[in-house]
Amino acid sequence: MTTNFEEIVSRHRAIFQSGKTRSAEWREKQLAALRAMVTERADVFCDALWKDLRRNKVDATVADLKTVADEADYTRRRVRHWMKPKSERTPLVLWPGRTTVSFEPLGVGLIIGAWNYPIQLVLSPLIAALSGGNAAVLKPSEVSPASAAALAELVPQYLDPDAVSVVTGGVAETTALLEQKWDHIFFTGGTSIGRIVMTAAAKNLTPVVLELGGKSPAIVHDSADLKVAARRIAHGRWLNAGQTCTAPDYVLVSKSVAHEFLVHLKAAVLDFYGADPQKSPDFGRIVSPRHFDRLKNLLGEGTIHHGGQHDRDDLFIAPTILTDVPPTAAVLQEEIFGPILPVLEIDGIDQAIAHVNARPHPLGLYVFANDQAVAQRILAETASGDAAINDCAVHPIIRELPFGGVGNSGMGKYHGEWGFRAYTNARGVLSRGTRFDAALRYPPYSRGTRLPNWIMGIR
Ligand code: NAD
Repeated sequence: MTTNFEEIVSRHRAIFQSGKTRSAEWREKQLAALRAMVTERADVFCDALWKDLRRNKVDATVADLKTVADEADYTRRRVRHWMKPKSERTPLVLWPGRTTVSFEPLGVGLIIGAWNYPIQLVLSPLIAALSGGNAAVLKPSEVSPASAAALAELVPQYLDPDAVSVVTGGVAETTALLEQKWDHIFFTGGTSIGRIVMTAAAKNLTPVVLELGGKSPAIVHDSADLKVAARRIAHGRWLNAGQTCTAPDYVLVSKSVAHEFLVHLKAAVLDFYGADPQKSPDFGRIVSPRHFDRLKNLLGEGTIHHGGQHDRDDLFIAPTILTDVPPTAAVLQEEIFGPILPVLEIDGIDQAIAHVNARPHPLGLYVFANDQAVAQRILAETASGDAAINDCAVHPIIRELPFGGVGNSGMGKYHGEWGFRAYTNARGVLSRGTRFDAALRYPPYSRGTRLPNWIMGIR
């Protein structure tokens, strides 16, 4: 198996070194082909997402396929501009000379995806890799096997097989892939596996982007529009049955408005998924029995304010709101990554800020407040990969925003030009003319002819 992977990597490296992947034309052609794949073969991907996660067609189209198609198109239209070397100032001492930054492709990248958005989470990094002029090997998650099989079938039909491959399989295959020498590794998944990936990358000093998870808080202040806050939080939490990395993981709500907020939150669940969410065509399923068992154990903590029904045969857990959860409960320690939402009451924003800062940096932080001063103070006094005011979970669709974590929730950013930058080396280039070569620059300095500091560019 390992020999095989060596062969794949060296084949792609040879193509990369031939220069094939560098041209703007090649990049644009691949991005157009990727877009064609997800639009022309949308049905294949939708079927796979239904099998893996019982994802309804609207969510599959919007959250997976259209997002990827739009990103490929957005990138294709801008990549030539991003590729252009940027001119910078040249200090007087280096005249005549020209200073530029060029964006060099890195080589052959490994992209390891997670199962919750199994198409998007390998194709979106691939868009970044292609825009940077790289070759790439995709390793979709084994936990969503139908999506992995769809990618393995369709990617070679649409994309340049000299430069892009798909490897399916589980931990053994991922481990063997990580033993290869890569020029870049892009990993999406849990923090503990992120550590394994970074350790493997360290052997060859390979640059990494780690898109990890964490407990993203939603803070609801007294000044919030409670109905809108409840509906947006409900949508962010229960989309894909809570298996969304940017979903609000728990709510910190001001005591004075907690009751009213809970009334709106429950109403939103009933409005979105009905009294029997198991029958709702819009509510997803837990990806595997292992994850079902983990989540079911979390239901025993605190008071079930709403929901709590579950059915292992159907991998169904109802949208569940928990209250009165003890601070030591597991549901407040580990990332939930399922359809359970603990709602904790707080006395004020000082307590909310202290709560967030006592924990590892989350991927997202969401403030619901119409008092802008409060929202800005919370953002200024906390850290998170990204943040939103009066919304949650949906900001990754904005191509111009750098997407990614900080600290325990990851490192490196992507989407749009941020992805292009992640997959290129910003190479500073000084290009000198040779007509003048002032002797003043060179030793022996005892000649006393050293140039003044201002000419040397020294302040
Ligand atoms: P997962 O189990 O699918 O694992 C991700 C990848 O890691 C898979 O391709 C798998 O083969 C590989 N892997 C698993 N165990 C491994 C090991 N021991 N050694 C080497 N490789 C291994 O996904 P997951 O980790 O359960 O994903 C869920 C997590 O991902 C959550 O924490 C979620 O927040 C996070 N996530 C983050 C983002 C983001 O963009 N930041 C997006 C989606 C999910």
